[in-house]
Amino acid sequence: MKKIAILTSGGDAPGMNAVIRSVVRTAIARGMEVVGVVRGYNGLINGDLIPMDARSVSDIIQRGGTMLCTARCAEFRYDEGVEKAKKTCIENGIEGLVVVGGDGSFRGAADLSAKGILAVGVPGTIDNDISMTEYTIGYDTAMNTVVEMVDKLRDTAQSHDRCSVVEVMGRNAGYIALNAGIAVGATYIITKEEPYTMNDVIQKILAGKKNGKHHFIIVVAEGIGNSEQIAKEIEQETGIEARATILGHVQRGGSPTLRDRVAASQLGHYAVELLEKGIGNRVVGFKDNQVVDYDIQEALKMKKQFEHKLYEIANEISF
Ligand code: ADP
Repeated sequence: MKKIAILTSGGDAPGMNAVIRSVVRTAIARGMEVVGVVRGYNGLINGDLIPMDARSVSDIIQRGGTMLCTARCAEFRYDEGVEKAKKTCIENGIEGLVVVGGDGSFRGAADLSAKGILAVGVPGTIDNDISMTEYTIGYDTAMNTVVEMVDKLRDTAQSHDRCSVVEVMGRNAGYIALNAGIAVGATYIITKEEPYTMNDVIQKILAGKKNGKHHFIIVVAEGIGNSEQIAKEIEQETGIEARATILGHVQRGGSPTLRDRVAASQLGHYAVELLEKGIGNRVVGFKDNQVVDYDIQEALKMKKQFEHKLYEIANEISF
């Protein structure tokens, strides 16, 4: 393979830049040319390409977001869109492509691979909601941001004897809520993976109050979606002043943590090694902490386990 491209697609995640750096430098080290595609699959359809050299990825490993920008691209869901993207690749001598994103982006990568443009997916999302991998790039940074923010909320909750209801991201998954929840000492973690009733939450708070607790942190996963209502109910039923905070997009930003930079460097490197061997239609990730790769269709069918034991631990030690 003489020339490959890289694009970032779907939601941005800290560490995407570190993947771009790793892919560009690995490709150059192996004697390949690399181009960056601007704004995900849109750039592939419109031919929005930038040549990349070793220096073009200097000074980005520590930056959040993605220097190539990212986007959602409705046109790429249809065959005409994929055909246009293929045409851009052929006209520009692009034989392989690294796609950094989530499940949706991997479906696009499979469509392109089926048309002969070999594509390899790298999981980049703060939500860690990709089944084929234990870890997705951006997850650690996002969770550390949550911890930093909730620690600040705790200061004010503590000063006013309040209950702070914090909604964290995760799309439909509760992984950020669970791990960040245990790390901030949440009184209760509400996710859709673990059954709960508002009565459970209220009883836990009342039991804590009886035990001498003055302030409470309730972490709510985004998928639950009614943090204001939850705060209102807590206040009504416990008499403790409760405030809801939706952390929102702050969780996507910031300088990637060590873990995200290392994971990004490993996965980007491995993706290029696959392309170098002429292997496409794969997605790379971690299993038992080792870098592995799967067929994209197989990967999309996999199911992920929720860390139930961790949830139990969080519950048991939060009284
Ligand atoms: P993520 O990659 O984070 O899951 P999306 O689901 O928004 O994010 O997908 C990102 C992009 O991938 C979409 O805007 C679209 O261009 C492409 N995509 C998503 N689903 C498909 C599909 N079924 N077939 C082809 N391309 C798709």
